[in-house]
Amino acid sequence: MEKILVTGGAGFLGSHLCERLLSEGHDVLCVDNFFTGSKHNIAHLMSNPYFEVMRHDVTFPLYVEVDQIYNLACPASPVHYQFDPVQTTKTSVHGAINMLGLAKRVKARILQASTSEVYGDPEIHPQIEEYWGRVNPVGIRSCYDEGKRCAETLFFDYFRQHQLRIKVVRIFNTYGPRMHPNDGRVVSNFIVQALKGDDITIYGDGAQSRSFCYVDDLIEVIIRMMDSAQDFTGPVNIGNPGEFTMLELAEKILRLSGSHSKIVFKPLPQDDPKQRQPNINLAKEKLGWEPKVNLEDGLKETIAYFAKML
Ligand code: NAD
Ligand code: UDP
Repeated sequence: MEKILVTGGAGFLGSHLCERLLSEGHDVLCVDNFFTGSKHNIAHLMSNPYFEVMRHDVTFPLYVEVDQIYNLACPASPVHYQFDPVQTTKTSVHGAINMLGLAKRVKARILQASTSEVYGDPEIHPQIEEYWGRVNPVGIRSCYDEGKRCAETLFFDYFRQHQLRIKVVRIFNTYGPRMHPNDGRVVSNFIVQALKGDDITIYGDGAQSRSFCYVDDLIEVIIRMMDSAQDFTGPVNIGNPGEFTMLELAEKILRLSGSHSKIVFKPLPQDDPKQRQPNINLAKEKLGWEPKVNLEDGLKETIAYFAKML
């Protein structure tokens, strides 16, 4: 049994990770400021004596004794990370410094939840880890993209300078139960709109693409990465290479939910990446992992979750 800290543990991915780590017999400390996370996501874990929750903002130092740290704290949807962009950068940068400092003090292994956003609007397709990205440093997405890029820099400097045991994963769009219904991400937006009979809002012409990974596949590979050989630091892409346009996604969700909502087109937000697809060869080779859940099956689970919630 290891003592494991999950920052952002009350969020979408964090709550699934806490659940999985507890089921494997670990002692889990969930740290969250509840900006986008909620107690509802972790309510079912509260009766477990090996689960502990601490309300704390990672931009402030934290003193606890743990063996592993999964650093997930950071709002992930454009609507939420653009709400208070200065706080978003602080969360990524000060949060990384505080968690790396903690890892250094207690000699813990530490994993950073980085993102495909470090590639910005990419000219290389599919994206490989060696690609340095094309990111606007002064746009409305920069607080998130550059914050996450700086966090990666800090992780690798702590690795080189202090020999910390770091792990960096670059997560591509992930979806599933416990996504926030109003967080503006495309899968939750389309499903909620379809279930309510509201218009499905496609931004731009809907030809932009994303690759969607079901949450269970993602949690599996995050844990494999934490437990991987010590000399494997990443960064490693994790996601499902199946690539779909937003128009295809909307049509799938309409069909699977049996909805009669109509599709409407809205302006494309600034710096919205045109295409995104992970090359996951490195994850396959080093972690023996590839996603198992296809988009239709994952969407069915997610639609069922939102149908119950609404
Ligand atoms: P989420 O918004 O559901 O979860 C983030 C959690 O962090 C929330 O519980 C929130 O309250 C908490 N948080 C935010 N700021 C904090 C702070 N300053 N101190 C403490 N807690 C704070 O998002 P998610 O989808 O679960 O994403 C989790 C992590 O994975 C994020 O770091 C995100 O950047 C990364 N990621 C997610 C995706 C995805 O598709 N879901 C893709 C790439 C990267
Ligand atoms: N999008 C959309 N309609 C919505 C929400 C999002 O067409 O109601 C588009 C958005 O412009 C982007 C894609 O869906 O091109 C994915 O958006 P999301 O915010 O989920 O993720 P990210 O852009 O960060 O990959």
